[in-house]
Amino acid sequence: SNVKKSAFIKSSTRVADCPPDRIPEFAFIGRSNVGKSSLINSLTNNDRLAKVSKEPGMTKLINHYLINDSWYLVDLPGYGFAKAGKSNREEWLRFTKDYFITRDNLVSVMLLVDSSLPPQTVDRDCADWLAECEVPFCIVFTKIDNRKKDMPTNAANVKAFKQMMAEEWEALPRCFETSSKTGTGKSELLGYLASLREL
Ligand code: GDP
Repeated sequence: SNVKKSAFIKSSTRVADCPPDRIPEFAFIGRSNVGKSSLINSLTNNDRLAKVSKEPGMTKLINHYLINDSWYLVDLPGYGFAKAGKSNREEWLRFTKDYFITRDNLVSVMLLVDSSLPPQTVDRDCADWLAECEVPFCIVFTKIDNRKKDMPTNAANVKAFKQMMAEEWEALPRCFETSSKTGTGKSELLGYLASLREL
């Protein structure tokens, strides 16, 4: 399940412009600054693949990366940045729903959740949204190494997030704990993606 080759294919502003859907793809989604670019770079051993964005952008782009010439890793627009208003949120919902229902080759969504923060409503809303769209997804906790001062431990945050989901659902989605800094969880996540591709 190791990544030997990764290449940026294209940025699409519309789902209709995405590359042909003949090979499986996995989409990464999460709040701006959750560590999505860093995780993509870490999983692919390619420091320059996804831009580690300093500026939470408003641009809605779907970025396709081709992995080992056989599957796509897809970077979806982030959500929940402070400046986003209601209309922005609605636009994001419309945009992502269009993507979810159009891409027949979408195997699973990876919902990224920052483990250095207590459970965030926007992340829970996103999990609800994925369930509503009937998209298979798993939770990828990021920044597991990044303990914030005077805050609950990352383990406590992860536990609280799982508890919050358990209150709502009978079964929890698969969860992974990762760090792009230390590589924690990387092989588990890649192994999981490989197992899903073989189904
Ligand atoms: P994105 O906006 O979701 O693409 O997030 P980025 O990948 O740009 O990361 C946002 C910030 O979090 C950057 O300053 C990263 O260096 C930092 N970051 C990302 N992943 C990790 C991690 O695993 N551990 C730590 N300590 N910091 C991280």
